[in-house]
Amino acid sequence: MSILNEVARRRTFAIISHPDAGKTTLTEKLLMYAGAIHIAGSVKARKASRHATSDWMEIEKQRGISVASSVMQMEYRDCIINLLDTPGHQDFSEDTYRVLTAVDAALMVIDAANGVEAQTLRLLEVCRARNTPIVTFVNKMDREVREPLDLIDEIERTLGMSTIPFTWPVGMGKSFHGVCDLKNNCMRVFQPGSDRIDSKNEVIVQFDDPQIQQRFGADLSSALQAIDLIKGASPAFDHEAFLAGKQTPVFFGSAINNFGVREILDALVDLAPPPESRNAIQREVLPDEKRFTGMVFKIQANMNLAHRDRIAFVRVCSGHFKRGMNLKVARNGKDIRTSTVVSFLSQRRDILEEAYPGDIIGIPNHGTLQLGDTLTEGEVLQFTGLPFFAPEIFRTVEISDPLRSKQLKLGLTQLGEEGAIQVFRPHLGNMLLLGAVGTLQFEVVTHRLQHEYAVAARIAPAKYQLARWITCDDPRELQRFIEANAHRIAYDAVDAPTFLASFGAELSVAEDNWPAIRFHKLREHA
Ligand code: GDP
Repeated sequence: MSILNEVARRRTFAIISHPDAGKTTLTEKLLMYAGAIHIAGSVKARKASRHATSDWMEIEKQRGISVASSVMQMEYRDCIINLLDTPGHQDFSEDTYRVLTAVDAALMVIDAANGVEAQTLRLLEVCRARNTPIVTFVNKMDREVREPLDLIDEIERTLGMSTIPFTWPVGMGKSFHGVCDLKNNCMRVFQPGSDRIDSKNEVIVQFDDPQIQQRFGADLSSALQAIDLIKGASPAFDHEAFLAGKQTPVFFGSAINNFGVREILDALVDLAPPPESRNAIQREVLPDEKRFTGMVFKIQANMNLAHRDRIAFVRVCSGHFKRGMNLKVARNGKDIRTSTVVSFLSQRRDILEEAYPGDIIGIPNHGTLQLGDTLTEGEVLQFTGLPFFAPEIFRTVEISDPLRSKQLKLGLTQLGEEGAIQVFRPHLGNMLLLGAVGTLQFEVVTHRLQHEYAVAARIAPAKYQLARWITCDDPRELQRFIEANAHRIAYDAVDAPTFLASFGAELSVAEDNWPAIRFHKLREHA
């Protein structure tokens, strides 16, 4: 098949939510419908087996959160759907942000009892900044939840985009009767139970039938009223506006009961965009170009402690990946072996023969690949857009056994390259500084240093409160700034200079005194 055909049938999306909204449950059901796995519960099992194989996942187990993100692939109708899971806990949001740069759409899961929650909001900011199209699933309608009109209103206000309900719930909780399909003017009747895949929902088309009216009572009439209201008040669905991240189609359902799940898959296939062109510093890259290009958006180290291996997660951006082909790291021209590249088909890691734009491939390596790297067949190219956020919390790290300091440095460098934490080397002195967006990152790092590098490290408070990457059109001016502020300068993993301040006021003073210097809260890998 031509590359163009393969591109057209790819859908790559991330699933985002606040913890406990039902992301794992929905993922499980999506995989079940798409025929990638047959038993519900496998996604949870996957979580569990990861605990067993990887020690540091103990942290995840202890806290009941998902630390690492992962990738699944499934086939539905004629499409290949790549689903990227994201960690829900806010302390890992950096990882999540980067995952969002590798997808073409997002599926947002909302708990109908809680509405839009804090963590969802932060993720949505990233989607909005990139105009990522979002499909919304309002979950848990089988519970006593908030009024749907309220929810819709809240989503619209907090997302800053119009909500276009595709379905509308009839009742909720114990009297949840199903959803009305606004396009086809029918109602699918809810049937509790989680193991039905094949059985079809009963569909009702005659709302004025007295028997139907009696059966669903006031719940049906108020749903129909609400639908009238919505149809009168909200704009029609506009595909372009959806693709631009200005409208979100909304679906109601209950993931645990398999209700409303198929509609989500259909929406992804029918509405979500196939892979599109991507920006590199040098040029725009089209997905159906003949030559392969890809971007490393995530690195997971030490999946197997005995081998100290790392897997780089690469989003294919153009061309056709074939096992064994010659690829180069565009940053330094180094060759990459592609004979052992793996796919992420459901929960198994298989050797991969080929892949197309939108697919995610895993490349085992020993440190050759870094976050943000571009892979090509030889062309010098650097994709833009992989974000690094200025850390908000800083710590120093101490060890009791000085003989382990080499190990400490190795561990921190590798964890830094993986993006688990940001490691800064001060301009003066040699005490490494750690920066994070959430405090839990420090716990993960201490735990992993102990278990993977046999280093007992103690994390101690540092005097800094904020960091800004600094750039200047005039390199000499930048150098002058660095010399004048030597005790407040450190370098990150790619040696980008950073200004550190203990108080917000120090930053304002520096900004006032050095007008030519730019201070950045976000560094896009370049
Ligand atoms: P995650 O943290 O977002 O991955 O959430 P989970 O999928 O683990 O779900 C959190 C809890 O909500 C679990 O106890 C699920 O069984 C429950 N849950 C998920 N979907 C539904 C639903 O549709 N209805 C009800 N009543 N509970 C649900």
